[in-house]
Amino acid sequence: MSEWGLIGQEGAIGLLERALGRNQVPQGLLLAGLKGSGKHTAARRVANRLLCVQGPASEPCGACGPCRRFAAGTAPDYTEVTVGPGEEIRIDQVREVNRQSSLTPQESGRRVILMDPAEALNAYAANALLKLLEEPPGVVHFLLISHRPDRLPATIRSRCQTAGFHPVAAGKVAAWLTEHCGHPSGQAELAARLSAGAPGWARALADRDLVGEREAVVEGLAAARTAGGESVLEVAAGWADADPATWLPHLLAWLRDMARVRVLSGQAGGPFLANPDREKALRGQASERDFTALDSLLRAADELADAVHGPLSTRLAVEEFLLTWRRA
Ligand SMILES: [Zn+2]
Repeated sequence: MSEWGLIGQEGAIGLLERALGRNQVPQGLLLAGLKGSGKHTAARRVANRLLCVQGPASEPCGACGPCRRFAAGTAPDYTEVTVGPGEEIRIDQVREVNRQSSLTPQESGRRVILMDPAEALNAYAANALLKLLEEPPGVVHFLLISHRPDRLPATIRSRCQTAGFHPVAAGKVAAWLTEHCGHPSGQAELAARLSAGAPGWARALADRDLVGEREAVVEGLAAARTAGGESVLEVAAGWADADPATWLPHLLAWLRDMARVRVLSGQAGGPFLANPDREKALRGQASERDFTALDSLLRAADELADAVHGPLSTRLAVEEFLLTWRRA
């Protein structure tokens, strides 16, 4: 692990280190890439180094006033604008940022604004932010975090320098979970593979009963194919009531594994699968379907993943998916 507290991401860290080392951090910086890959951690590190009286070329000293207040969440020259899933960053929040940006920095000689996730900016807020990026009202750095940079206006992206965060190999993530977080290797492997290369997400997954969660999903899928359609409604109601994080990653990984064993045909799928311990069951289910059916299932699951928000819409979306699953 680097001093940045991240594994992998050498490219992004190198770019940030060079900018900090030359004291040439752009006023617009976009940290873009996979959820759970360390963008927020890295952005806070950049912010701390910009604010520290010893910075930005060296590591944060941890002892100066700005460092202590940054750690305590009370740094007067630092603002974080964050919103929950499905919420928007509104224009009044950007106006407030504008107001703060135009004030003289109190102790660090500059201001730092972090926005996460930047794709949550609604159209009005994005327009207002663009004006700030074009004509910053003072010595201010905008650190924008996004796992869907394609949803940001191109005009905003073009005003920022981008540091790209990429998936980390599952083996590397699993080794890190075992060595630094003390998880047994089987659990670490499953978490690493489910996370699709995002160490932060893998660490959160590894604290859960992943095998139990997965088996509940597999049982739900089996039940939804039994005679009598009411099982579809029962399974959908159960999933809609549960936290999607406990079933959606397993569902997606299971379907992708089915597609993989179908592609691999007779070859051993182990190294390529999220669930190598269930290869036999995966092969059984995959052999019942042709590529067209598997493709339509994967599409339906992607649509389901996009539709998971409130309990009502989740229930309808799960029902729709399970009906596709029943037919395919
Ligand atoms: Zn300091």
